[in-house]
Amino acid sequence: MQNDKAYKGQWEKRWHPLRREWVVYAAHRNYRPWNFDIKENKPVFPEYDPECYLCPGNTRVSGLVNPDYKDVFIFDNDHPVVGLHSPVIDESLALLHNGLYKRSKAEGIARVLCYDPRHNVTLSDVSREQAAKVFQALRSEMIFFLKHDKIKSVLIFENKGEIVGVSNPHPHCQIYSTDFVFNVVQKELLATEQYRKEKKQNIFQNIIEAEQKDEIRIIAENKNAIAFVPFFARFAYETYVFPKKRHATLATMNDEELFGLAEVFQTVTKKFDANFKSSFPYVMAFAQAPVDAGNYEDYHMHLIICPPLRQPGLPKFLAGPETGADTFMADTMPEEKAAELRKIIL
Ligand SMILES: [Zn+2]
Repeated sequence: MQNDKAYKGQWEKRWHPLRREWVVYAAHRNYRPWNFDIKENKPVFPEYDPECYLCPGNTRVSGLVNPDYKDVFIFDNDHPVVGLHSPVIDESLALLHNGLYKRSKAEGIARVLCYDPRHNVTLSDVSREQAAKVFQALRSEMIFFLKHDKIKSVLIFENKGEIVGVSNPHPHCQIYSTDFVFNVVQKELLATEQYRKEKKQNIFQNIIEAEQKDEIRIIAENKNAIAFVPFFARFAYETYVFPKKRHATLATMNDEELFGLAEVFQTVTKKFDANFKSSFPYVMAFAQAPVDAGNYEDYHMHLIICPPLRQPGLPKFLAGPETGADTFMADTMPEEKAAELRKIIL
């Protein structure tokens, strides 16, 4: 029988204060730190692909032709998941079985934002100025949605890499704006409110301060932004990026703050890429307060980057606990993964 002490710090559960749920860490089980030599694995794409529906001058599935854009390019999604013109639901069909079952129009606006005209770059390797321009364009979108009376919540996200289902490498993100509030924001708002009631303090500020005190999970930091693998990370390399000053959404951030945020974001993704010698896949989402004119001064917007890989070639499958019970079981410790990234000198 092995000594319990051997598992110390490798086998425990941790409270996720923003989701108000437990995450179980069982790094003692079958996890071995990977230290094998990996070969450089960066696929080569052309700068322009005539088959790509996002490249400048190409025709999209809707028949619309992309302009010969030189910078950031935004358009309404040709196959929107939510739309202002989605079918209207007849009132007699809206509530069923005494309101137990409900249905409603799939209201919203879905857009696509191309980071760059070049087919073969990523947000990690465009210039710092170009990354900041992307964040500025997203800020303009948020200002637009804040004024839109049908939109309550905006999800900006990027799926990067074939492993998360993206077949087109052209660098882009998506914007889904809806008339309901996204779950992660609902959960975080609830946690913020509860924490304010219990401790009379701001939960986000306390998390940032705790990470700064512990220091060992910080991946990148500058005057305006900070990135860390949080104490309560669910994915091996899960990273949160915060502007240091509290903003409910991107809409109120100034250019200097956006530039700082872009710099820290790029440092994180460059470290990801260098660590695996590849264009590292991830799902990245902006967690932002609702845009429904409510008071969200306690909310602190942030980026959540969830890479699907635990080590090169080894994905984290969302199986029994995650899919079946909506509870994460991690095979790695946040401190170990943070240490891997902290070691990398760019
Ligand atoms: Zn392209």
